[in-house]
Amino acid sequence: MSDADRPRILVVEDEPDIADAVQARLEGEGFEVHVAVDGPSAVTRALELDPDLIVLDLNLPGFDGLEVCRRVHAQRRIPVVMVTARDHESDMLVGLGLGADDYLTKPFSMRELVARIRVVLRRAQPEQESAGSLNLGSLSLDVERRLTTYDGAQVHLTPTEFDLLRALLEANGGVLSREVLLHRVWGYNDSSGSRTVDSHVRSIRRKTADDIVRTVHGIGYAVVVPTP
Ligand code: CA
Repeated sequence: MSDADRPRILVVEDEPDIADAVQARLEGEGFEVHVAVDGPSAVTRALELDPDLIVLDLNLPGFDGLEVCRRVHAQRRIPVVMVTARDHESDMLVGLGLGADDYLTKPFSMRELVARIRVVLRRAQPEQESAGSLNLGSLSLDVERRLTTYDGAQVHLTPTEFDLLRALLEANGGVLSREVLLHRVWGYNDSSGSRTVDSHVRSIRRKTADDIVRTVHGIGYAVVVPTP
C-alpha cells in the first residue's frame, strides 16, 4: 500500500503508555498515525493533517475531547471515535450527542479499537462509493432510486424511514445511538427527539420484520449483518 492509500489517524491521548500502544497497533494495521497529547494541540494537528479519523480521549489537559470535537467540527467534518474512562462518562456523551461517531470505554482491547475504526472509516466513505444497493439478508435498499424490497416484495418506507434504515445499514452492524441517528437523519444536535427515532424504528419493523432492527439496550439501534 502506498502512503497515499493509508488511512491517516490522529490519536489524541495524554497517557504516554496508552498513546504508544495505540500508535504501535494502528501502525501495525497499516494506518498512518500521528499523536497529540492535549486539547489545543489536538485541534491544531487535526486541522493541519486533515486525518481520516480521530481517536479522541475525553479527559485531556488544556480542554477536553468534547471541546476538541466542537472546534474541529466547526471547520471540518472529521470522524471521531471518542475514548472515555468510565461508563458514566460514555452515558453522558451519548446524552449530549456531541458529534462523535462511536465511543469506547477504557480499558478497551486494541482489537475492539481497530474494529470500531474500520467501521467508522467505511461509513465515512464518499457518497458515490456507497451508492448502489445496500443489502442485509432478504432486505435490499436501492440507494439511487430509493426503493426498498424485503423478501422480494417492495416495501413502502417514508423518506425518513428510508434514511434511518440506510444509516443503520451503512453502519454495517455498528450500534448507532438515538442521538447519532437524530443528527444524521434529521440533522438535530440534541437528544430531545429520541422518541421520534423509536417510533420510526417501530414503523420500519412493522413494514419489514420485527427483528430487522435490533435494540441495543441503553445504547441505541443496530442491524445485524450475517456472516457469510
Ligand atoms: Ca486522558
